[in-house]
Amino acid sequence: MLASIQYWETQAQEKYYAIPHFNVWNAEMLMGTIDAAEEARSPVIISFGTGFVGNTSFEDFSHMMVSMAEKASVPVITHWDHGRNLEIIQNAWRHGMNSLMRDASAFDFEENIRLTKEAVDYFHPLGIPIEAELGHVGNETVYEEALASYHYTDPAQAAEFVERTRCDSLAVAIGNQHGVYTSEPKLNFDVIEKVRAAVSVPLVLHGASGISDEDIRVAISLGITKINIHTELCQAAMAAVNENCGQPFLHLEREVRKAVKERALEKIRLFGSDGRAE
Ligand SMILES: [Zn+2]
Repeated sequence: MLASIQYWETQAQEKYYAIPHFNVWNAEMLMGTIDAAEEARSPVIISFGTGFVGNTSFEDFSHMMVSMAEKASVPVITHWDHGRNLEIIQNAWRHGMNSLMRDASAFDFEENIRLTKEAVDYFHPLGIPIEAELGHVGNETVYEEALASYHYTDPAQAAEFVERTRCDSLAVAIGNQHGVYTSEPKLNFDVIEKVRAAVSVPLVLHGASGISDEDIRVAISLGITKINIHTELCQAAMAAVNENCGQPFLHLEREVRKAVKERALEKIRLFGSDGRAE
C-alpha cells in the first residue's frame, strides 16, 4: 500500500533502524525491490530521479511505480530523488510521488535555505514532505580527490537550516559519495552525532552502496533513519547479466530481477527494517 514517509521515518527513528530507499528506473529493479520488501515484510521507498530520464520515461514509468506501490502487501513510499528545481518536483508530484527531495546543496547556505524553503512552502499545504541536503554529497569521481575538497555537513548550521526551511528530513554529508567508491569510504561519524544532537528531523544517508556493513550499523545506531542504495542494485543486476549472457532474454530478465531482489533483501536485513511492516 502507498505509505507516508514521515510515519515510517518516525518509527525508524524511535526504534533505531533505517528505511531502505532504492533507486529504480526499470521494471526489473522496481519488481525486484518490491519482491524483497514483501518477502522481508519491510516498508520500502522506491525512488526515481533526473539521472535516469535518459534511460526511462518517468511520466510513463511513474504509473507502474504507483500501481505496484498501491498493490504491494507492505508499505511503499514513492519518492523523487535530488530534485534540482521546483518544476522538476512539481512534475514528480503530479505523477504520483508522495515524497520529494529538493536538493539545493550545491548552492551556498543562504541560497540552499531559500530554495529549500520555496519547495517546503509550496508542498506542505499539499501534505507532501520535503527532504533537503546540507553539506554536499558529490557525484562519482576519484574518492580520495573528492575527500580533499569535501563539503561536510556543518553541525553548527543544521539547527538554523531546519528551523528556517522547515524541511522534513535532512541528508547529511559525512564523507559519503554517490556511485562506486574508488577507495575505502571514510565516514566522519562525529558529524552524524553532532547533527543528531542539533535537530530532531530524520537523517538520511545517500551514496550508501559500498559502505561496509559495520559502518552502516554504526550510522544507524547514531540516528540515520533512511539509507539510499542504487549502485549496488546495478552491480547485482550486471553480475546476473554476465552470468546469464547467451541465455534467452526472457530467462536473463528473470535472473536480473532475482539478483536485484537478493541484494535488496541483504540491505533490508542490514538496515533492520525487516519484519516492521504492519
Ligand atoms: Zn543521493
